[in-house]
Amino acid sequence: MKPARTTRHWLLNVFPTGTALVIVFALLIAFLMLVSQRWLEERGSLLAEVKLQATLVGENVSISLAAGDPQMGNDMLAAMANAPRVQNTGLYRRDGQLFARYDRDRQRALPAASPAIGHFFEPGFLNVTVPVNYGGVRDIGTLLVRVTLDGLYSSMLYFIASLLGTVTVATLLGLLMSRGLRQRMKQAEHDLHVLALYDRVTGLSNRYAFEMAIEQTVLRHQRDGGGSALLFIDVDGFKKINDRFGHASGDKVLQEIGQRITYTLRAADVVARLGGDEFGAILVNTSNPADAAHVAESLVREAAKPFLMGEASAHIGFSIGIAMLPDDGDAGAILMHHADLAMYHAKSLGKSNYQFFSDTLDNAVRRRLEIEEGLRRALRDRELSVVYQPQVTTLGAPPQGVEALVRWVRPNGTNITPCEFIPVAEESGLISDIGDYVLQQVCQDILSLRQQGLPVPVVAVNLSGRQFLRRTFARDMMHTIESAGLTAADIEIELTESVLMDRLDEYRQIMADLSASGVKIAIDDFGTGYSSLSYLSKLPVSKLKIDRSFVSELPDNPNSLTIVTGIVSMAHALGLRVVAEGVETEAQATCLLDNECDLLQGYGTGRPMPLAELARLLTPAH
Ligand code: C2E
Ligand code: CA
Ligand code: CA
Repeated sequence: MKPARTTRHWLLNVFPTGTALVIVFALLIAFLMLVSQRWLEERGSLLAEVKLQATLVGENVSISLAAGDPQMGNDMLAAMANAPRVQNTGLYRRDGQLFARYDRDRQRALPAASPAIGHFFEPGFLNVTVPVNYGGVRDIGTLLVRVTLDGLYSSMLYFIASLLGTVTVATLLGLLMSRGLRQRMKQAEHDLHVLALYDRVTGLSNRYAFEMAIEQTVLRHQRDGGGSALLFIDVDGFKKINDRFGHASGDKVLQEIGQRITYTLRAADVVARLGGDEFGAILVNTSNPADAAHVAESLVREAAKPFLMGEASAHIGFSIGIAMLPDDGDAGAILMHHADLAMYHAKSLGKSNYQFFSDTLDNAVRRRLEIEEGLRRALRDRELSVVYQPQVTTLGAPPQGVEALVRWVRPNGTNITPCEFIPVAEESGLISDIGDYVLQQVCQDILSLRQQGLPVPVVAVNLSGRQFLRRTFARDMMHTIESAGLTAADIEIELTESVLMDRLDEYRQIMADLSASGVKIAIDDFGTGYSSLSYLSKLPVSKLKIDRSFVSELPDNPNSLTIVTGIVSMAHALGLRVVAEGVETEAQATCLLDNECDLLQGYGTGRPMPLAELARLLTPAH
C-alpha cells in the first residue's frame, strides 16, 4: 500500500503541528521580553542623560534668574540649538512663572506654569524638570527640558529589525538543517522498511511481508470471493551446496532459486524467501487446485535443472506443500500451518514433489505430535522393552543369532509399532536415547542369559542413520558394551541399505571404526535400495539381510526367486553371509535353503519374543 501523498508544506512537515505552535509561541515571548528590556534600558539612559543636561543648563542660566534678567536667560538658553534632541527649554521662577525660554520650533508651546520636579513621558517627548540653584541658594526656580524621543524610537526600530533579522536567519538555517536531517531520517526509515520487508540475499519479500500479503489475500477473498493457492517450497539438498561450495555460492544459488520461482509464476503472484532454504508463493486468483498443481509441477521441473557453479554443477529439488484458500482455511495462520504440513508430507514422500494439504494429513501430524510427547514419557518411565527374534539355519534348529526389536506398550495397554514411532524418534532426535536404551537393555539381557548358563548367540541391534551420524558413536557403543563386561563379538549392528546409500561418505569412517573394534555390520532390507554389490565389497560388512518383500513372494514368483538367488551368489562371492527376513512358511524356508541362503528369520522361526521366552528357546534341553 502506498502512503497517501501529503499536501502539507514541507516546513510543517519538519515539526508536528503541536510542536511548531509551541516553538512559535516561545519565540514570540522571548522577542517581546528582549524588546521591552531594551526599551527600558534605552529610556533609562536617555532619562539620566537629559536629567544631567538639565541640571548643568540650570546651573548656567541660574545667574539670569538671580539677576532678574529674562533676556539674558533667553540668550543663554538659545545655546540649546546645539543639542539636537532638545525641543524646548523653559526657565521658571520660584513662583512658577515662565521666565525665559528656548523653542526649536513653535509647534509645541511650553506650559505657562512650571511642572512639578521630576519627569514624564508624552507621545514623542520626554519632559524633565529640575530645580535651579544659584551659588549657595537652593531652589531659586525650575528648568524644564523637553526632548524628542525620535532617537529612542529609531534606535529601538534598529534593534527590533536586527533582532528579527537574526531570528529569521537562525530559523532559516535551523529549518534547512532539520530539512537535511528530515531527509536523512526519511532515508533511514526507507532503509529500515526495506530491511523489515525484504530478504537481503534474494531481494524477495521476507517472511514478515509474506504473512502480510497472505492476510491481504484473505481479506480480499472475504470481500470479493474466489480463491488463491499458498505454496510452501523447501529446497532439498541446499545444505550440501553450502557445505561443498561455501556460503557465498550458497547465496548465489538462493538468488537463482528466487529468480526461477519468480519467472515460473505470474507477475501478480507473490514470491518470498521465508528464511533458510524455504520459499513461499501466493498464486493469486487461483481457485482450481489443478492450476496450482500445474504451477507446482513447473516449479519442481525448474528446480531439477542444474545450477552451474563455475566448472561444477549443483543439484537441488523442491518439496512443495500447497494449501488452498478458502478450502484449507480462511485465516492466514491456519493456511500457513497447513501449507507447512503439506510441505513436510512432500518431504517425507521422498522430496522433489508437491502435496496438497488434506485433513488426514492434519490428523497424521496430530498423531505424530502425540507420539513424540508419548515417547519422551516412555523413555523416562521405561515403557520401552526389547524382544528377540531368532535366526536359524533350518526350521527348529537352535538360533545362530537373534535380532533385538524394540517394543512400546503404553500404560493403557496399546501397542505402538516401531514402524510408527521410530521415524518420529528420528525426526525429533529422540532416536539416540532410544538406541542407547535398547543397547543397554540388550547388554543386560545377554548378561542375564549368561548368568543362567545359556549359550547366547550374537545379538543384532538395529541402528537408524541419525544415530549413526554421531561422531563419537563407535566409541560410545564400545563403552556401553565393555562396561557391561561384554565384547564386540557379542553384538552385531543392522543398518538399512537405503540409509547407508544416502550418506555413504559420512558413514564409511564410522563403519571402519566399528569394524576395527570388532563389531560386525549387517545390511538390512537388502534389495530395496539402489545398491550395487560392488560398493559393498569396499565396506566392512559381514551380512546381508534379504528384504521381506522378496521372501514373501517365494517360492512361486520367478522374479523374486531370480533376485534372491542373485543376491545369495554374489554375496557369497564377496564372502558375506545371507539372512532371509520374513520367512513365514516351510515352503519359503525350503526354497531359501535350496538356494543356499545361510540363515532364516521370520514368524516361521519364531515371533519376536520377550527375554524369558528366548531363555527357554536357548535352553539345550529344548
Ligand atoms: P526390521 O529391522 O526389518 O525388523 C524386522 C521387522 O519385521 C520387525 O518388525 C519384525 O517384527 C517383523 N517380522 C519378523 N518376522 C516377520 C515375518 O515373518 N513376517 C512379517 N510380516 N514380519 C516379520 P518390527 O519389530 O515392527 O520392526 C519394524 C522396524 O522397526 C524394523 O525393521 C526396524 O527397522 C525398526 N526397529 C525395530 N527395533 C528397532 C530398534 O531398536 N532400533 C531402531 N533404530 N530401529 C528399530
Ligand atoms: Ca533389522
Ligand atoms: Ca529388515
